[in-house]
Amino acid sequence: MSTLSAEEQQIVELVARWVDDEVRPVVNELEHSNTYPEKLIEQMKQMGVYGLVIPEPYGDFSVSARCYAQVTEEIARGWMSLAGAFGGHSVVSKLIVRFGTEEQRQRYLPRMATGELRATMALTEPDGGSDLQAIRTVARPVDDGYVINGSKTWITNARMSGLVALLCKTDPTTEPAHSGISILLVEKVPGFTVSRDLPKMGYKGVESCELHFDDCHVSTDALLGGVEGKGFVQMMTGLETGRIQVAGRAIGVARAAFDDALRYAQEREAFGVPIWKHQSVGNLLADMATQITAGQQLNYHAADCLDSGRRADMEAGMAKLFCSEMAAKVCLDAIRVHGGHGYSTEFDVERYYRDAPLMIVGEGTNEVLRNVIVKQAITRNGLT
Ligand SMILES: Cc1cc2nc3c(=O)[nH]c(=O)nc-3n(C[C@H](O)[C@H](O)[C@H](O)COP(=O)(O)OP(=O)(O)OC[C@H]3O[C@@H](n4cnc5c(N)ncnc54)[C@H](O)[C@@H]3O)c2cc1C
Repeated sequence: MSTLSAEEQQIVELVARWVDDEVRPVVNELEHSNTYPEKLIEQMKQMGVYGLVIPEPYGDFSVSARCYAQVTEEIARGWMSLAGAFGGHSVVSKLIVRFGTEEQRQRYLPRMATGELRATMALTEPDGGSDLQAIRTVARPVDDGYVINGSKTWITNARMSGLVALLCKTDPTTEPAHSGISILLVEKVPGFTVSRDLPKMGYKGVESCELHFDDCHVSTDALLGGVEGKGFVQMMTGLETGRIQVAGRAIGVARAAFDDALRYAQEREAFGVPIWKHQSVGNLLADMATQITAGQQLNYHAADCLDSGRRADMEAGMAKLFCSEMAAKVCLDAIRVHGGHGYSTEFDVERYYRDAPLMIVGEGTNEVLRNVIVKQAITRNGLT
């Protein structure tokens, strides 16, 4: 099993300190006023968070997937919204690093590494996000590029991002459907509008939007990698990183809920003793600790698979599935431990409870991920 290098360990510790000193004191106010965390995002840029998956010479310093997962965990421990704010950006970075032309890498990656240019990915459409081969956004090839028409929904960070990795059909008639799908790197050009911010139960402070493309013209060099019909496979590869990130977010939220519950259970007394001494409460805490540790090991295993260059869709899928379900349970149990205070908006546990379900739904629902896992288990003839 691989471990972090000394330098990576320092990065995780630096981010953890920043979370305790800068994020936790302000998160409740930002959350309840649904305010975009501009200052915190600037600090994340300074710390190099936006460049964590961008190697030299395009970025300053890239880290292992395991380190990336742990940085995500720490940031989500402070506020899940902050971790979400660089999740899609990391996937787009990975896509350009791995599949982009040299010209695309040079054009985008240096500015993405500093966070000066932020990116998001647009897959989901009003008619559905699970069946991506059925997407309806079409980029019609013309002499000097493509003309895009269609709509996307639930796109995170769409207003703040200067670049969108758009999953679309460059050939809507071909079979199998995925062979007509491409990714276009679209900047804020005429014909592309961000129309509406969607209201949400959690994930506050960071916008999730509807996008519209009306005869939106982009040039030929917007096509990721320069070859049509590769977008579906490219995106599925990028989502391995995305799912490890979402699992890291879930672990971070669960850790925050556990930390709060552990502290509260020692301070609060009932029947003359701290409540953790009541076996029912103690058992909840023991199960939380066990489940979080199991989730971490699963996610680090997925990250190590990705770092080794092996296909990691099953491992990343398992990590995202387990960690998101685990986080939802841990957050509900943290409310139980807090009793009535757990239902108060003055305590952080209600926020964790509202944030946790996003990780069940986002980056491929857990139902869809079970399909991925079982298909791989059959193909690999087991757990190899
Ligand atoms: C806050 C937020 C942020 C998001 N950010 C982004 C983003 O940045 N970019 C982006 O592209 N998308 C984003 N999404 C969208 C998200 O990825 C989709 O919501 C998700 O993929 C599910 O798609 P859907 O909502 O259309 O559900 P549907 O596809 O309509 O699914 C509905 C239900 O049917 C189930 N289902 C569907 N097909 C199957 C199947 N084959 N087997 C078993 N069950 C199935 C699903 O699991 C689900 O329970 C975001 C969503 C939210 C809520």
